Amino acid sequence: MRFEISKVLDAIEGRVCTDPSLARAVVDLAEVIRWQNLDGGRPASLLRLGMVIDALSRQIGEDSVPVYAIVHRALLSDADLTSNERMVVRRWADDGLVEVLDQPGDRMLEVADLLGLPVLTRARLDGLVGRYPWIGQAGRVLAPVPGAGGPVFIAHVGGGQDPATGSRSPAGVKVLSRKWRCPEPGCALFGGGGSGGAFADLAAVDRVPAEQPPPTLRTGAPTCPRHGARLSDAGPRPRTAVLAVRIGGLVRKRFALTETEPVAVGRAPDGPGGVTLGQWLNDEARRWISRSHIRLELRVGEVVVTDTSTNGSGVRPGGSMAEHERLALAPQQSRVLAEGDLIELYPGVQVGRADDMSSDAKYTPNSVMAEAPTMAMRLPRQ
Ligand SMILES: [Zn+2]
Repeated sequence: MRFEISKVLDAIEGRVCTDPSLARAVVDLAEVIRWQNLDGGRPASLLRLGMVIDALSRQIGEDSVPVYAIVHRALLSDADLTSNERMVVRRWADDGLVEVLDQPGDRMLEVADLLGLPVLTRARLDGLVGRYPWIGQAGRVLAPVPGAGGPVFIAHVGGGQDPATGSRSPAGVKVLSRKWRCPEPGCALFGGGGSGGAFADLAAVDRVPAEQPPPTLRTGAPTCPRHGARLSDAGPRPRTAVLAVRIGGLVRKRFALTETEPVAVGRAPDGPGGVTLGQWLNDEARRWISRSHIRLELRVGEVVVTDTSTNGSGVRPGGSMAEHERLALAPQQSRVLAEGDLIELYPGVQVGRADDMSSDAKYTPNSVMAEAPTMAMRLPRQ
């Protein structure tokens, strides 16, 4: 039982991130874990985050949807969580997957404002519409409540039940055009070090994460939300393109491509940063698709695909599914993706810009709770 819960928590770990290009909604983890009526279980449970993430996936109609979680520091020692859950949250904090704050205040709303993301909360935010006008827009603030097949969303303000993404605020666009460095050694969000000799400097450069959360602007200048320290400018942030994988008509995963790192996509690419498709493929597709099937690069804002497979790929110009328009991409051949183009690794297995792609099949969930589907219902009461 304990082992299975660990596996569920590992699956949830793949769905928390502070990456501005990939997060799809903002949550306050301290709030989520206490939504006891979602499962009628313990006073606090980290598995409720999994239930809310599943609900978000279901509502958006995409798999592997990550959330941006703000975590009050007190949660790391919350006695209502199991020791295993506390350990997991600490690991997320150490890895910069969540934002741990002494005083979260309205950081959740600030992040939503800077990134244009919806907020999942049961708090009634009516009084803050003046400060954050988007709160009044449909789908920007949704409350997960118990439903027949898991949590469903209702709106206290703004209406709607489908999570809606807006645009980044002007301040968000500005602050996210730069990389930032925190003076605090080992800062998981904005690198660290910066003092203490050549070795420390070298290590600090290595540790500045490629994708950083938005700094807080509460003090008027870019500041580390975790350490309250003024951040120094670490140069322009590399350009990013958000791509997506669609398999069997369903968007399974989004990933970010930067100008500094090519990304391999295939059945099971070697090395870190690759996009692994194996879990979503049937036997035939698994035989056809190479471990590393294509390599994607971002060059001066253009997405370049290179086939690295044994069997080759195809390109669907403008996303056209007409067979006579499909262009072959032979092994080792490269091509610049035009707007709307999709790369096809195998019939029904497509990669393209996330904006050009939507799910067009019935949602068949790949639940983060799949390792133990009824686990949440069977949590021991304390
Ligand atoms: Zn910091």
